[in-house]
Amino acid sequence: IDQRSTVMGMREFKKSSKLDNVLYDVRGPVADEAARMEGNGQHILKLNIGNPAPFGFRTPFEVVQDMRQQLPECEGYSDSRGLFSARKAIMQYAQIKHIPNVGMDDIYTGNGVSELINLSMQALLDSGDEVLIPSPDYPLWTACVTLSGGTPVHYICDEEAEWYPDIADIESKVTPRTKAIVIINPNNPTGAVYPREVLQEIVEVARRHQLIIFSDEIYDRLCMDGVEHVSIAELAPDLPCVTFSGLSKSHMIAGYRIGWMIFSGEKKCIEGFMLGVNMLSNMRLCSNVPAQSIVQTALGGHQSVKDYVVPGGRVYEQRNFVYEALCNMEGVSVVKPKAAFYIFPKLDVKKFGITDDEQFALDLLHQKKILITRGGGFNWHKPDHFRIVYLPRIEVLSQAMEELGDFLEHYHR
Ligand code: PLP
Repeated sequence: IDQRSTVMGMREFKKSSKLDNVLYDVRGPVADEAARMEGNGQHILKLNIGNPAPFGFRTPFEVVQDMRQQLPECEGYSDSRGLFSARKAIMQYAQIKHIPNVGMDDIYTGNGVSELINLSMQALLDSGDEVLIPSPDYPLWTACVTLSGGTPVHYICDEEAEWYPDIADIESKVTPRTKAIVIINPNNPTGAVYPREVLQEIVEVARRHQLIIFSDEIYDRLCMDGVEHVSIAELAPDLPCVTFSGLSKSHMIAGYRIGWMIFSGEKKCIEGFMLGVNMLSNMRLCSNVPAQSIVQTALGGHQSVKDYVVPGGRVYEQRNFVYEALCNMEGVSVVKPKAAFYIFPKLDVKKFGITDDEQFALDLLHQKKILITRGGGFNWHKPDHFRIVYLPRIEVLSQAMEELGDFLEHYHR
């Protein structure tokens, strides 16, 4: 006991070294500082988390009504993969998206996509196994690969080319240890939607190097400007694919915690991996059953999300507003997002003297009480980007953009 480190005479407990390189900055140090300021009674405008409900986005009434009615029947655990009705509805959804070769046992429900990202990476990776992940990414992917003992290898998405993945960069980063490639389509944080030709090129890389494709498609029903969403699994019937989606964003019920993953295509070569998934799925017993119980109604019923992403709809109009406001700020450039509710502007770091994007986010927070997420939080390699969530109403966004414009006009580190 004498050898142990102590604090005030007590044995000290540190966090596990497994977490040493795990980064999840969407709720990181700058968000902690915002919480501290709120604790002191200051009002913070939060443009940092993609949580629609607090901004007045409502779930279709029939979904809530369904949950009310089903609740008394949801007292027990379900099958570990999920309720029959939920998986049947997800299977039909897979058919509509032309995802090939999906049976009922190929579908797992989870407490959000988040749980399933973690579960699938834990089931697949051994120490040193590499997974190709986009940069910028939704950082949970990188975090879960690291936590699972794997090595995240980031490939560049190219801002000059609508933020599409740079295929040559992907190809150059494949090694004998690469097991899988992750795509996030539609993308968080860039709002990019990948066209069929780009997906086809990714499939070809995966085919050449025998990689599993993991495709996070949680924003697939939030595409704008008539852009069609294509599931990459449709284009890869001969490869193992895992497609992730859920109701957090499409039905504005992020708090209910319901998502799913679908194994498709060639599954013989991943039988071992799927056994691992099944074991971890059994160990967690099942996902939240009341939330599973509404999947059938949600997927089959009124898709109110469609009203938000067309001209006149809130998400559409708010995107246009924020995009135009950013385009008018000196030292800022930005690609117009095509889906989801994020925008990822670029800052002229020379003009503003920025060398550290966390400091930039803190300065904005302290001076204007606006909370954004720094680009580094999405495993972006330069301090020249940040992400805005454009879920608040235009009145609020208008004030935020005015403050941001004013801040940048005077900002120099
Ligand atoms: N994947 C992406 C790309 C996301 O942006 C998010 C949440 O913001 C998630 C997954 C997690 O979603 P869920 O609520 O289903 O856990």
